[in-house]
Amino acid sequence: MPYSLKNKLVVAISSRALFNLERENFIYENEGLPAYTEHQISHEDELLKPGTAYSLVQALLDLNHIEKEAQVEVIILSRNSPSTGLRVFNSIEKKELNIKRAAFTGGEKISQYLDALKVDLFLSKNKEDVQDAIDAGFAAALLYDAPENFHPDENQIRIAFDGDAVIFSEESEAIYKEKGLDAFAANEKMLADDPLSKGPFAKFLLTLSKIKKEEPKRIRIALVTSRNSPAHKRAILTLRKWGVDVDEAFFLGGVGKTEILKSFNAHIFFDDQEIHLDPAAGEIPSGKVPYPSDSKLSVKE
Ligand SMILES: [Mg+2]
Repeated sequence: MPYSLKNKLVVAISSRALFNLERENFIYENEGLPAYTEHQISHEDELLKPGTAYSLVQALLDLNHIEKEAQVEVIILSRNSPSTGLRVFNSIEKKELNIKRAAFTGGEKISQYLDALKVDLFLSKNKEDVQDAIDAGFAAALLYDAPENFHPDENQIRIAFDGDAVIFSEESEAIYKEKGLDAFAANEKMLADDPLSKGPFAKFLLTLSKIKKEEPKRIRIALVTSRNSPAHKRAILTLRKWGVDVDEAFFLGGVGKTEILKSFNAHIFFDDQEIHLDPAAGEIPSGKVPYPSDSKLSVKE
C-alpha cells in the first residue's frame, strides 16, 4: 500500500528555511546557476548550519517519537535540482533528522505540488513561492533570517500565532485599516458572539490542536494579538467554537509583541504585519503570512 500523507500534519519546507544557505543563495543570485551548482557539489560533504526553521522542524519530528504511528511528516520542497539538493540531504543525514521525503523542482515553482503532498504548512525564504502558496489557499509563511541567540525549549514545541489575518480571516483587520480603531472596536463588540471566519492558518492550528489533545504537554500554543478589550471576546469565543484550546493568550493593545514572544520562547511566530515581525525576528524565529494577492489589504502594505 502506498504511504499515505492523509491524517498527518504535513510540513513542507524549503532547503533555505531548514538550513542556512544565505551564502549559497548570494552566489546563486550574483554569479548564476552554474557557479551555485559548482559550489554546492564541491561542498557536498560540508555540514550546513541550521536555518530559521531548524529548531521548529526538530521539535515537530520529536513529536513522532512518542506516538505509535508518525503524526508529523516533514518534506523538503525545494527549487534546487536533485544534484544540488544532495548537499541538503547529506546534512539531514548527519544531523539525524528523520526526513525521508523531498521534492527538488530544479528551479520550477513549487506551489503546484502542495496539493499532491497534502501540505498543511509551507515555510520558505522565497517570496514568490510563499505568495503562490497563500493564493492557492495553503498556510504559508516567508521566513526571516534566523535570530542569533535563540535557545529553543527542548521538551516542548511552542508556537505563537497572531490573530487577525493569520488564524482568523482579515475581515476585522480590514475595518481597522479602513475606518480606524474605534470602528474596529465597535464592530467587534457588536459581533462578539459571531465567530470570525477562518484565516490562512486556521486549518494548521486545528490540526496541531488535534495532536495536542493526545499529548497536551508536548505542544504549547499562544495567541499573541494586538486586539484588546472589548475585541478579545470575539477571538476567545471563536476559538471555543472551533474547539481549539490555546494555552496562552495575550491581548496587547498597543504593547509590543517582542518581549512577550521572547518570554514565551516560541519556536516560531506567525504574523501578517512587519511592524510586529521586524523587531520579533531578531529574538525568535519568525514568519510573515502574506495577504492573498486579491486581498484589500495587500495593496496597502
Ligand atoms: Mg494580524
